[in-house]
Amino acid sequence: MCDCIPVRILVVEDDKSIAEPLVAGLERNGFEAVHVATGRSALAAISGIDLVLLDLGLPDLDGAEVCRRLRDLSSVPIIVVSARSEEVDRVLLLEMGADDYVVKPFGLRELIARIRAVSRRSASSDNTPQQLISGDLTVDLRTHEVTINGDSVDLTPKEFDLLAYLASDPGAALTRRNILEEVWDANWYGSAKTLDVHVASLRKKLGHPEWIQAVRGVGFRLVTDAEKP
Ligand code: CA
Repeated sequence: MCDCIPVRILVVEDDKSIAEPLVAGLERNGFEAVHVATGRSALAAISGIDLVLLDLGLPDLDGAEVCRRLRDLSSVPIIVVSARSEEVDRVLLLEMGADDYVVKPFGLRELIARIRAVSRRSASSDNTPQQLISGDLTVDLRTHEVTINGDSVDLTPKEFDLLAYLASDPGAALTRRNILEEVWDANWYGSAKTLDVHVASLRKKLGHPEWIQAVRGVGFRLVTDAEKP
């Protein structure tokens, strides 16, 4: 996530045993989490929220109804959380205005990948320029342009996605697994070499091979001059 945009997530979940670890996990990963346990309190708490995680099985209002009413109040992304026993009709969820859904039980990693994907889609659909800037490097998420000191660098779409992901948290060691999930696909089981091949070509094209550092046993991090002590 970009440091400049703190993401406030409204967690709508009546089951404490799910809500508590979920809120803690989101906060550990740098999100702000606001927890409510009913549909009515969700509607009351929507102001200032960037993304909603909405449990469909709520004690007061039907989750689908909450989703529709939230959509009337706000254009924030909504990720629906449903129990495995409930029939999930993706088309119906999308008609209700949901952006994505996860089925319980779900892993935090999967959920965060979806939160990021949904946030990115909604960020790129509004008209404000979204730029990740690190030292001389600028990654423009809206125009898909990469520049170094104003000079543009020609990248393939995957190279761009990889660089954008690294530049979303400059200096941080990002794991191979997260990079593969985030840049390729959550269900991607291809060769791990693909990542190394893309890192190698990215280093070459940027002309600053030292900017993308391998972190032994972890993955990679972006270190432009801006992150150097
Ligand atoms: Ca529930």
